[in-house]
Amino acid sequence: MASSLPVKKIMNHICQHCGELIVGNAYRVTSEDQGIALLDMVVCSLCFMEAKRLHLHAEEINLGSKQASARNRESHRPRLGI
Ligand SMILES: [Zn+2]
Repeated sequence: MASSLPVKKIMNHICQHCGELIVGNAYRVTSEDQGIALLDMVVCSLCFMEAKRLHLHAEEINLGSKQASARNRESHRPRLGI
């Protein structure tokens, strides 16, 4: 298996609430009423906290797959040169 990452980074999210580039964790805020989705957006951590305050449903977007169990836990996280 090739271990090279695709050129496009998935991590470049723009907060759909404040329009800032999301650095670090991205969060998803959803809101639905009687099964109908009213809101579904990717936000930064600040807007995530705001959403929490407003009692919206918010969750962290997990970019890494959690399928691999902890036994294969070597540190090979890609270096983000910032
Ligand atoms: Zn934001």
